[in-house]
Amino acid sequence: MAQGTCRYCKQIHIIGYEEGDLALELTSQGMKPEDAINEQATRQCTCNEGLHYRKGIKQAEEAEEECKKLFADLPEAKNVIGTAVLSLAVGRLKALTLNIETSDGSVRATARRTTKGGIEIRRNHTTEEGVSV
Ligand SMILES: [Zn+2]
Repeated sequence: MAQGTCRYCKQIHIIGYEEGDLALELTSQGMKPEDAINEQATRQCTCNEGLHYRKGIKQAEEAEEECKKLFADLPEAKNVIGTAVLSLAVGRLKALTLNIETSDGSVRATARRTTKGGIEIRRNHTTEEGVSV
C-alpha cells in the first residue's frame, strides 16, 4: 500500500500497488515507483483536471492506434507521431509535421490538436517527376 497524490488538486489516494495496478505496470516500464503511484492517483482522481487528464490519455491511446494503421508502411511517422500523441492530448504540444522521403516522392505526415480539442492526423503524398541532364 502506498499514498499517491493527484498532480492537480493534491488530493491523496491510497494505492494498493499490487498485481493489476497501473502504478506497478508503469514501474515495470521504468518509471520511478513514487512517480508511478502519483500517476495512478492522478488518473483515478475525480477532480476536473484529473478527469480531463484521464480523457486525454484515452484519446491519445485511440490516436496511437489510428496512427499505426495510417502509417503502417512508414515506421518513422508511426514512431514519432505515435509517441507525440500523448503530448498533443494532455501536454503543451500543438502540432508537428514530418517530411519523409519515399521511393516515388515524399510523404508529409502531420498531427495537430484541433481547436475543439481533438487530435487530427493526416498523411499527404507528393509525387515528383522530373529530369535533370
Ligand atoms: Zn485531483
